[in-house]
Amino acid sequence: MKTGLIYFDNNATTRLDQEVLTAMLPYFTELYGNSASQHHFGLESAKIVDQARANITYNIGGSDGKIIFTSGATESINIALKGVAFEASEKKTKIVTCATEHQAVLDTCAYLEQIGFEIAFLPVDSMGLVSLAHAEQIIDEQTLAVAIMLVNNETGVIQPIRELARLTHHHDALLICDATQAIGKIPVDVDELDVDIMIFSGHKFHAPKGIGALYMKRGGQLAAYMHGGGHEYGIRSGTLNVAGIVGLSKALEIAIENLEQNTMHIKQKRDLLERKLLAIKGTRLNGHPDLRAPNVSNISFLGIDANTFISEMTFLAVANGSACTSAVIEPSHVLRAMGIDNQTAFGAIRFSLSKFNTEAEVEEVVSLISQYLLRVTPNH
Ligand code: PLP
Repeated sequence: MKTGLIYFDNNATTRLDQEVLTAMLPYFTELYGNSASQHHFGLESAKIVDQARANITYNIGGSDGKIIFTSGATESINIALKGVAFEASEKKTKIVTCATEHQAVLDTCAYLEQIGFEIAFLPVDSMGLVSLAHAEQIIDEQTLAVAIMLVNNETGVIQPIRELARLTHHHDALLICDATQAIGKIPVDVDELDVDIMIFSGHKFHAPKGIGALYMKRGGQLAAYMHGGGHEYGIRSGTLNVAGIVGLSKALEIAIENLEQNTMHIKQKRDLLERKLLAIKGTRLNGHPDLRAPNVSNISFLGIDANTFISEMTFLAVANGSACTSAVIEPSHVLRAMGIDNQTAFGAIRFSLSKFNTEAEVEEVVSLISQYLLRVTPNH
């Protein structure tokens, strides 16, 4: 990386692992067959795709479900929600989700609401956690599916998916879990969580952009999303991205093999960063301090505007949660749902680390932020 640049925005996307790139390269240049073709090139591609399906299923703790390859989590979410909705019986018309979900879930639900489905929202507490007591009241016999993320992209908060699955299944509904920010960061076992459909995306764990998947438990039914040649069990037609699939499989394998070691490395840096930043007057942590992925820290800095901070400090890659729709900048919907006031939400910065970050970078970031704060909030 160019010197002087620090990348703490790994929840947005991650650097491709060299080993992943090496595994993918032959599938661009030598083994470039279409996996649906019957000749040598096609059969070689089909073989590696089958191996990737088995490897991915194994590494997420799946048993006999189906992996459907997609272009990423947004597409997987659309396939899952619309696929479940369009397969539903007339009695089941309600989808339960949560205000802190990713926009891909919220917007897909908004679309389904427009065409007649009922959408109900589970509230979260001030730490960002879904309340099981509310879930018990809201999930009912009309519920078709409950769509809840495992790890929140802005705060890293981990939702009680296993318990939500129990409540969901009690009413014969399906649990759709967006695990995009969980895979490769915390242990994930789809069977143990008892999730019906799990969603993930390669570029969040050092695979390339443009490849993702959803895992559907055995017996699950989804309406076709993309019509055409009948690929991916007829749900998502289109020639498979073989090199991407190889990359997804390899990146997941590396992430799972090194999960414990990477978690220790990342958490130590994240905790150091957090300790030092929270020691500065006028700062606060957003999200649960413990029930959280080890790589994320969402901190509000009183008296600063995170948008301005990011646009001035372009050599430091971090994120804020505010959405810029047309000319109006809205505070993060996640922080607002947690009851955080607008000013605190506008001052929130998300730091998301990866295995590639170092302690020296943490020290550098703390020093840069301290200098910035002295400049813009001299009275603190
Ligand atoms: N879900 C969550 C929780 C995310 O963080 C993201 C991306 O930031 C997505 C879904 C969408 O992922 P993709 O970029 O692969 O479409």
